[in-house]
Amino acid sequence: MFDAVIVGGGPAGMAAALTLGRAHRTALLLDAGEGRNASAEAVHNFLTRDGTPPADLRALGREELARYPSVQVRAETVIDVKGAADGGFHLDLSDGGTAGARRLLLATGLADDLPEPRGVEALWGRSAFHCPYCHGYECTGKRVAVIGAAPARVRLALQLSRFAADVALCTGGEPLDPPSRATLEANGVTVRREPIARLEATGDRLEQIVFAEGEPLDRDAMFVVNVPRQRSDLAERLGCTSFADASVEVDEFGRTSVAGVFAAGDMARRATVPMPLSAVIAAAASGTVAGAVIDQDLLCDDFDLPNPFAPAKG
Ligand SMILES: Cc1cc2nc3c(=O)[nH]c(=O)nc-3n(C[C@H](O)[C@H](O)[C@H](O)COP(=O)(O)OP(=O)(O)OC[C@H]3O[C@@H](n4cnc5c(N)ncnc54)[C@H](O)[C@@H]3O)c2cc1C
Repeated sequence: MFDAVIVGGGPAGMAAALTLGRAHRTALLLDAGEGRNASAEAVHNFLTRDGTPPADLRALGREELARYPSVQVRAETVIDVKGAADGGFHLDLSDGGTAGARRLLLATGLADDLPEPRGVEALWGRSAFHCPYCHGYECTGKRVAVIGAAPARVRLALQLSRFAADVALCTGGEPLDPPSRATLEANGVTVRREPIARLEATGDRLEQIVFAEGEPLDRDAMFVVNVPRQRSDLAERLGCTSFADASVEVDEFGRTSVAGVFAAGDMARRATVPMPLSAVIAAAASGTVAGAVIDQDLLCDDFDLPNPFAPAKG
């Protein structure tokens, strides 16, 4: 029986494992190896690691964890988890093995569905993006398209127009309200309202957006609407409370609604945060907090101490 099993070995899970290893807790980190940003060329906006390829960042994390003998890392998928009679957790692994834990941390991340335009998956993370803080800077001086017509898309187009050479809002046939159109055009953003027929690309590099009618648009990059979903159903299987956007609800210490189950990283958020704050450094920070609170939880149990991190009653 491990003090903690961590499911998911991205930045959130690795940061928690580091904290638990440094507290001399036995921790098992199980990771299926499909990080959300795996297709991206580099991780940006992570102080001291800006520009590091995602796989290199993971390798650096694994090297650091190897210094802590109480931490085990295994490339394994968790297929099921249940509460055990002793108050801990029993996990079933994809290799047929099992694991037991006193506390469970879910750090299984999100996956992104990319409904439009068709064929965008091949460009995802390379020349098709969703987050201006991850990839906006790399569009400096480039020709960029923003897909969609919702107010957030208009805001993103204006944001990018501050430093991109040329920005077009492509509504894909969706109506755009006249005041938004006027603001965009007054700020040099082209509006294309035709449905998008296809994307032309060389490898993972966007070259043109071809419309159902009218001239194609030469572009270096595009920002599309991604639809995030939980990568794993483990939180649901355990009965953790979640929000309408499928984020698992946690408190400020990473506790879910199920006793002994914590969640960190992209998959979880607090009720006071309106949307998942998806960033590698934020995921790592939430893993660090959850790791420390798991250690404190166990400490209070073992020494029969009052727990300052216990959820408020009532
Ligand atoms: C294209 C793209 C580019 C991005 N670029 C940046 C960027 O430049 N900078 C930045 O700060 N953020 C970036 N992000 C966001 C960033 O990827 C996430 O914030 C970050 O990866 C979240 O870390 P995490 O540990 O919560 O989840 P993840 O990194 O997604 O890791 C979750 C891990 O859990 C594993 N897992 C899931 N289910 C199971 C299971 N049942 N058993 C075992 N393992 C399981 C997965 O395989 C995965 O390895 C980007 C996102 C995308 C989509």
